[in-house]
Amino acid sequence: MDATQQISKFQEFFEDNYHAEILELIRKGNSFIIVDFVKFLKYDPGLSSLLLDYPEEIIKAAEIAIEKFDLPSNMKNFKVRFINLPKNQKIMIKNIRSEHIEKFLVVEGVVRQKSDVRPQVTTARFECPSCGNVLSVIQLEKSFKEPSRCGCGRKGKFRLLSKEFVDAQGIVLEEASEDLEGGEQPKRMNIFLSQDLVSPLSEKKTNPGSKIIITGILKEVPVELRNGAKSTRFELLIEANSVESIQEDFYEVDISKEEEEKILELAKDPKYLTKIISSIAPSIYGYDEIKKAILFQLVGGNRKKRADGMITRGDMHVLLIGDPGAAKSQMLKRMAIIAPKARYVSGKGVTGAGLTASVVKDEFMGGWALEAGALVLANKGFCMIDEMDKMSPDDRSAMHEALEQQTVSISKANIQATLRCETAVLAAANPKFGRFDPYGIIAEQINLPPALINRFDLIFAIKDLPEEEKDNKIAKHILELHQDPNIIHPDLSTEFLRKYIAYVRQKIKPQLTSSAIEELKKFYVEMRNSGNEEGGIKAVPISPRQLEALVRLAEASAKIRLSDKVSRKDAKRAIKILHFSLSQIGIDPETGKIDIDRITTGISSSQRSNIIRIREMINSLENKIGKTIPIDDIVNEAEIKGISEDVVEEVIEKLKRSGDIFEPKRGFVQKI
Ligand code: ADP
Ligand code: MG
Repeated sequence: MDATQQISKFQEFFEDNYHAEILELIRKGNSFIIVDFVKFLKYDPGLSSLLLDYPEEIIKAAEIAIEKFDLPSNMKNFKVRFINLPKNQKIMIKNIRSEHIEKFLVVEGVVRQKSDVRPQVTTARFECPSCGNVLSVIQLEKSFKEPSRCGCGRKGKFRLLSKEFVDAQGIVLEEASEDLEGGEQPKRMNIFLSQDLVSPLSEKKTNPGSKIIITGILKEVPVELRNGAKSTRFELLIEANSVESIQEDFYEVDISKEEEEKILELAKDPKYLTKIISSIAPSIYGYDEIKKAILFQLVGGNRKKRADGMITRGDMHVLLIGDPGAAKSQMLKRMAIIAPKARYVSGKGVTGAGLTASVVKDEFMGGWALEAGALVLANKGFCMIDEMDKMSPDDRSAMHEALEQQTVSISKANIQATLRCETAVLAAANPKFGRFDPYGIIAEQINLPPALINRFDLIFAIKDLPEEEKDNKIAKHILELHQDPNIIHPDLSTEFLRKYIAYVRQKIKPQLTSSAIEELKKFYVEMRNSGNEEGGIKAVPISPRQLEALVRLAEASAKIRLSDKVSRKDAKRAIKILHFSLSQIGIDPETGKIDIDRITTGISSSQRSNIIRIREMINSLENKIGKTIPIDDIVNEAEIKGISEDVVEEVIEKLKRSGDIFEPKRGFVQKI
């Protein structure tokens, strides 16, 4: 079949199948058409198989065929974009080899980086100075190409007549983590987009973090050496023919009929929860409460969009703070395997703004590019952040928005964007001095800003204190595992657990019952008012953030048992988990009450009342003896009121740090 035949074949095909669409396109002034490959395959199997092998030529024929229709004169460069290619054209980025060059391929992945839109020369016309012949050179490579010789035999310089530009953009596509086997590093591919694919309308599809399908032609681009010469090494890139976004509301975990039956059966088993929890991380001994909480996190609550457009997240964030060697990293790694979609990063390895988003120099197109960080790439999934205490403060503060609003906004160089980031975070950190001081206040040993901590639904402190009985059991467990790594036979396989979680997340959207609401409300109000009054200040035990955490936990509890109703029992379970978490870090050792202020501000209510009482003493002493007040006087005064010298010193330190007072000379303080 020669080119003219191909063109007329396409003309017929468009005439028969796409007539109405073409008229509509002309009306709208769109200069592209999307063609379903399957339709074309049915129409002409021969030509469609040629399309897969020689896409460049055949697509050109299709485009010429379209231009033969009565297109208005302002519609140049008409594009024919194919979607729905056969499954065997789909290839993993890591499997792309030189044999695929010039072939029509389909790749799938997450947009990691995206450059600015900039004009790119597509063709340039030259005139031969000796014979006057006009030569067109198509520009496909990075460097500008001039004709090497003319038909008349002339070599050397040619005069540039004109250049034709299109809008172009480069993106870097990365294999989606859910398509990889645990622990594999995702491979990347440069994708070249032009014309309507970079128009504001379709540009949204290719925002960093979005998952897309690219159909395109694999091209090689010579790498330019520093001296301007071309090397023998080639870079690969895919010139996109079409871009489709993938709906990510659905986890791409295949669940067969049989597996569904097994899932339903497990939910009926009275021991389902113990079975699941014991299989969550069987090689890690103990930590049942934490495992349960993480299971609830994996399942998640419901995301809710209210009528006024406000959104409350359904994702829960969990933070593990603990002594070194307490299996925190192990736990995170294991959860990254069980979660249907997850990314694992370590604080030390996260560069710059590698967690959220950053603007980087674009090597591929020149200029700037927006690069998505791990939290954005894990959109709709999980991000495990290890060693969070070692992250840079910049990155940490960028996380605030990501955790609560579930978006990441960036505005740098000439790039402004808001990226979606519906990611649940499971983080681990060491305490301030690497290890907990068992007698100190835990909140004071958490080396993270309170505003960040407050965004975690649940925080667990893992103290590794010697306890003979427990140590015996852990040692036995670890040593036996070393003797025989296959000694543990969990009730449920990892594969099944992943499917169970994916199934629950997809299918179950439970609703709060009024008895659950009553239970949660009762707990909330009781806790809020339980703090004993001291110095006229009530301890504030929990805040509305914890109430929302409770709702998410209760919903998760209902989801796990595949129920569409959140019952009173679910509410009780949620309360138990939150209570456990709060009691680990939030108990005010002086009052024995749970005190959320201790977590979020680092100051407990009894301390707060001490601060206020001592400030009052300073005020009255100032009235009595003047501006400069001896610390000894404060200590004496405090002793009468039953506050010890240590506490006074601590409070004075705090007041100095907060800028309320200063020490004009040793042993004296003065108000500012
Ligand atoms: P962390 O990140 O908390 O500092 P790691 O996760 O690196 O600690 O754990 C250190 C080692 O100790 C790992 O090999 C882990 O398997 C082992 N370990 C610690 N606690 C337990 C436990 N409870 N059960 C099984 N192994 C444990
Ligand atoms: Mg670790």
